[in-house]
Amino acid sequence: MSNQFLLSTIIISFVLGSILFFTKLGLKYNRQRTFCYCPLCQNELISSNSFVSDEDVVTYKCAKCLLVSRWDFDSSPMPMLVRD
Ligand SMILES: [Zn+2]
Repeated sequence: MSNQFLLSTIIISFVLGSILFFTKLGLKYNRQRTFCYCPLCQNELISSNSFVSDEDVVTYKCAKCLLVSRWDFDSSPMPMLVRD
C-alpha cells in the first residue's frame, strides 16, 4: 500500500463524512420548519407576515383574506388549527 493511496483514502473519507454531516444538518433544519396554511385560502401564514400573538395558542391573521386563525404548537409535533 503506497502512501499516496493511503492519503487519497483519507481525503475521500473526509469528503464523504462532510457531505453526510451537512446532509444530516439540512434534514434536521427542514424537519424543524413548520407550515400553517390559512383554512380559507390556503395562504402560508408563517412566511407571509400573518403573525398576531403567541399566548396559549398562536394567532395568525391571514395577509390575503384577513381570516384570523389560532394554532396550537404545543400539543402535537405539528401545529394544529384550533377550532372554537
Ligand atoms: Zn387566507
